[in-house]
Amino acid sequence: MLDIRIEKTATPKQKPAPGEKLGFGHVFTDHMFVMNYTEGKGWHDARIVPFERISLSPAAMVFHYGQEMFEGMKAYKDEKGNAYLFRPDMNAKRANDSNDRLCIPRIPEEDFVQAVEEVVKVEKDWIPTDPGTSLYIRPFIIATDEFLGVAPSKTYLFIIILSPSGAYYASGLAPVGIWIEDEYVRAVKGGIGYAKTGGNYAASLKAQVKAHDGGFSQVLWLDGVERKYIEEVGAMNIFFKINGKIVTPMLNGSILPGVTRNSVLQVCRHWGYEVEERRISVDELVAAAHDGSLEEVFGTGTAAVISPVGKLRFKDEVMTIGNGDIGTLTQKLYDFITGIQWGKVEDPFGWRVTL
Ligand SMILES: *Cc1c(COP(=O)(O)O)cnc(C)c1O
Repeated sequence: MLDIRIEKTATPKQKPAPGEKLGFGHVFTDHMFVMNYTEGKGWHDARIVPFERISLSPAAMVFHYGQEMFEGMKAYKDEKGNAYLFRPDMNAKRANDSNDRLCIPRIPEEDFVQAVEEVVKVEKDWIPTDPGTSLYIRPFIIATDEFLGVAPSKTYLFIIILSPSGAYYASGLAPVGIWIEDEYVRAVKGGIGYAKTGGNYAASLKAQVKAHDGGFSQVLWLDGVERKYIEEVGAMNIFFKINGKIVTPMLNGSILPGVTRNSVLQVCRHWGYEVEERRISVDELVAAAHDGSLEEVFGTGTAAVISPVGKLRFKDEVMTIGNGDIGTLTQKLYDFITGIQWGKVEDPFGWRVTL
């Protein structure tokens, strides 16, 4: 249990008005959670303080060798003003998997969840209430030693910042176009693909720009060894409905184990679908698109929750999924999972945590 000191700001900011366009990741709340780590002392000085600049040495290790990790989750508000988190224990566990991979000291999972809960409670009035909006939560840890040698840092900062964010889809779910990348790769088994860390994103920008230039919004990665098996999309996991079955790449060390992915698998099994976590080759996918057995494609991640895919581009071919519209199951999953998150439907899994 953390002993969290709270220091309130003397100059609160104007909160966005209802109806105001929020977008994603531009607006930040009045306070943040901060905690230090020092070797020999452990994690200490947990505090909620005004959102402000942090001061670091230009030699701080995070700037040079990228020793950092992050998480992404959301807080939601229902019509009665109740605030909820969605499966925060999953983020706390995954944070420690990332920490272990990056030689960052672990944070006890109950402390991670407590820190998220406390800072969101302080900023409860910042959780927007327009349909589809939420408070995005960004916990992260950076290496802060003033040292240019390559080694794990002996000091760290754990910070949680909060950002009210708009509806991902302004006017209902909209299908996206996806670029299957066959030149650049994101991650390999044995690397850091399963950890949520900035390095994976730095490595992804080149292909992201290429896909954008080609008129597609996201990249679908193939495996780094054979460039043959489907891995995941930019910041989402990927699902296919093929001949009535739900298929998604298995967790193999190079893809990120999404909380939304895990939730979709559980919901599909609960609804009686046959579900397969396995290797899927791009050739199998293209063949399924050609013979009509590829019925639906969607991405899963905290930001968009469920993101319908309307077309896939591989080499010189653009394949339209179904009639390019939103699949029936895709829509049903979106409605059900967001229904749990926003407190609109019963939660048979116990995923919703009331603040
Ligand atoms: C965060 C992330 C996801 C989605 O994970 P969720 O827990 O569902 O938000 C998928 N892929 C990558 C690379 C990610 O960073």
